[in-house]
Amino acid sequence: MAFRIVPMDTAVADQVRSTMRAPDYDHPAWSEVPVEPAPCRVCLDVIEPGVERLVAFTYDPFRDTEDLPLPGPVFVHARSCAPYTDTATYPARLGRSGLLLNCYGRGRRLVHAERIAHADAGTTLGELLARPDVDYVHVRSATAGCYLCTAVSA
Ligand SMILES: [Zn+2]
Repeated sequence: MAFRIVPMDTAVADQVRSTMRAPDYDHPAWSEVPVEPAPCRVCLDVIEPGVERLVAFTYDPFRDTEDLPLPGPVFVHARSCAPYTDTATYPARLGRSGLLLNCYGRGRRLVHAERIAHADAGTTLGELLARPDVDYVHVRSATAGCYLCTAVSA
């Protein structure tokens, strides 16, 4: 099954960059230069530690699809960045320490979850999205647990 990677909406990230407030929650966002590589949810690349600045804020990855929220912390580049466009391929530098795949059916029903190696992302996402009970997959960090991106059938 072919899949499509869905990054965070650029308009959401731009709003947070300009207001320094979390969408939906209005919690304060904060900005810092990370000491370790941090994943940007817009370009789906690494925010370079010691070099680039991030903005961290509370985000609900279900905000556009389900009415049961499950917010958590995310990062984006503090500067404007281009959204990820190679959506038929899992991002090369996103979640290199391992991925947690949470597979959902409509209604936010968690039907399957598993940890995988980054190298297996493309194959495993295709297999999981071929299941009739899986409508979309939230990809999270296997170590920090934070939301990275969504995968849907292409
Ligand atoms: Zn970025």
